[in-house]
Amino acid sequence: MSHIPLVDLKAAHAEVADAVREGFDRILEHTAFVGGAEVAAFEQEYAAFNGTAHAIGVANGTDALELALRASGVGVGDEVVLPANTFIATAGAVQRIGARPVLVDADPATYLLDVEAAAKAVTPRTKAVAPVHLYGQNADVAGLRALLPEGLAIVEDGAQSQGASRDGRTAGQGGIAATSFYPGKNLGAYGDAGAVVTDSPELAQRVRELANHGGTAKYRHDVAGFNSRLDGLQAVVLRAKLARLARWNDQRRAAAARYHELLAPLAEAERVVLPATADGNVHVWHLYVVRVPGADRDAVVDRLNAAGIGAGVHYPSPVHLTPAFAHLGHGAGDFPHAERAAREILSLPLYPQITPEQQQEVAAALVNALH
Ligand SMILES: *Cc1c(COP(=O)(O)O)cnc(C)c1O
Repeated sequence: MSHIPLVDLKAAHAEVADAVREGFDRILEHTAFVGGAEVAAFEQEYAAFNGTAHAIGVANGTDALELALRASGVGVGDEVVLPANTFIATAGAVQRIGARPVLVDADPATYLLDVEAAAKAVTPRTKAVAPVHLYGQNADVAGLRALLPEGLAIVEDGAQSQGASRDGRTAGQGGIAATSFYPGKNLGAYGDAGAVVTDSPELAQRVRELANHGGTAKYRHDVAGFNSRLDGLQAVVLRAKLARLARWNDQRRAAAARYHELLAPLAEAERVVLPATADGNVHVWHLYVVRVPGADRDAVVDRLNAAGIGAGVHYPSPVHLTPAFAHLGHGAGDFPHAERAAREILSLPLYPQITPEQQQEVAAALVNALH
């Protein structure tokens, strides 16, 4: 039986193996284990790729979110508006600051933040809104901006959207965004890593300080920060992969188009709902997420897994129905679109190196799993 993983990190490594080995040798030679020339070069290259003036490498995506929120002035007791359907870390970063996550529902077609609901959730205690660029396409940041009181911070969660844009605008352009380089992301390290991107020199400076014990000069600490730095070995991997990311995102788009075609009969028969791309979005297909409204989703995933297909669910529980966030006081029915998505979605294998034959096998297995 063949095995088609959800994400094929070995196939990605095969493309960068030589560059990574050479880079690791450079690091060992110079012992630049934290920070250093590779990190500085990666920061410049990632800022250029993303079209923002600054990129600050940090230890992981959750830290990147916390740092971007803190740099934007979010503190204890403040409110941050965010979607109920996201990876738990978006809410976790807010919670760790001692601020309160204020949840809102998603658009039922794209699963992206409902920007009108977000604007309605703003109170005098709101310090920021945190849209999530879920599954590889950007939330409507410009639309959100137009609905928010002037000066209210928008802190974008771009962990799943490296290379994506909406109406030509990428995460962090004109504002601030966090991203994650967890191994399975479109740009993945060989361990934990993340970055904050922004056009603002002041915000960039604040993030650098907070992420380095509150100071930028040695043993000078102007604010109380913590330690969240990018290491040289990860920067080597990220540089090698960044050089290929535009092509890899093209390959993801081609693979998504093939799934659309292969699954069109199931969609016409209303057995699956295919992913929708919002107008103006250049999608980078971090995940290919379908819904199976008439079926027992968990059973479908089990059958796919039993057939050697690495299907997954992103995510089975919206934030408000997750035990760690029970204290927010929500219950079932509060965010119906997020809840329906959590019940009905599943993610099919998608990575740059997936072949048309593998995708045919996935589509055939899905047909079987739905019977
Ligand atoms: C991966 C992810 C994060 C967290 O990143 P880590 O590097 O795992 O801390 C945050 N938000 C979203 C939407 C993610 O997908």
